[in-house]
Amino acid sequence: MNLSIDKGFKLLQHLLDRAISTFTGLIELFYPRICAGCDAHLMKHEENLCLLCVQDLPRTYFWDYDVNPVEKLFWGKIPVHAACSFLHFEQDGVVQHLMHRLKYEGHTAIGTELGKRFGMILLEKQWFHDADIVVPVPLHVSKELRRGYNQSSFIADGLGDVLSLKVNLNLLERTEASESQTKKSRFARTENVRSVFRVTAPEIVRGKNILLVDDVVTTGATLEAAGAQLVGAGANKIYMATVAVA
Ligand SMILES: [Zn+2]
Repeated sequence: MNLSIDKGFKLLQHLLDRAISTFTGLIELFYPRICAGCDAHLMKHEENLCLLCVQDLPRTYFWDYDVNPVEKLFWGKIPVHAACSFLHFEQDGVVQHLMHRLKYEGHTAIGTELGKRFGMILLEKQWFHDADIVVPVPLHVSKELRRGYNQSSFIADGLGDVLSLKVNLNLLERTEASESQTKKSRFARTENVRSVFRVTAPEIVRGKNILLVDDVVTTGATLEAAGAQLVGAGANKIYMATVAVA
């Protein structure tokens, strides 16, 4: 009697396992888990990116430099204590592809994933170890409403999580939707951006070490403008981190 109950239980468990695995299979059929980098099917233990894409990410290794090219962008402009980027942004490269999915296709998990991966390196290399708050560069509210989210806030979340730092999404505000910057001179571009950020709570900024986070840095004008406002509000150290450098 006991034996047959045991057998029946095992059969039931087997059927249940089969049902669950069929169900998982069905879900994957309709919502396949694919790599954001190469569209290959992800293995069970992989999230967002396959192992090969992770291995091939074009890392900058700036964390091993005494002075790196991102820091040099701010020389003679604003006092930046340290700045670092995770990956090289290349035209038609995998990073451009990932950033496109993050910004325009709602694939926000990529931002968190890359933020975490960057954060693990920064933690190991002792970068930004005395930062107090992580602040993503904000979008203008109209742009954020249109997109539905600020991509940099997901990167900031990933970084903050690994570095055990608080993320403040509202400390900086973008007060104007800046016009297209591509055709302006470097000087005009800086001036154009500088006026569009505002610190919402200077009392929180005063005396703090702030890690500013953005997706991609090119000329550094946007980060410089945002950083200048934080310096003006009495921040102690300004740190900057971006997923990519173009
Ligand atoms: Zn891949």
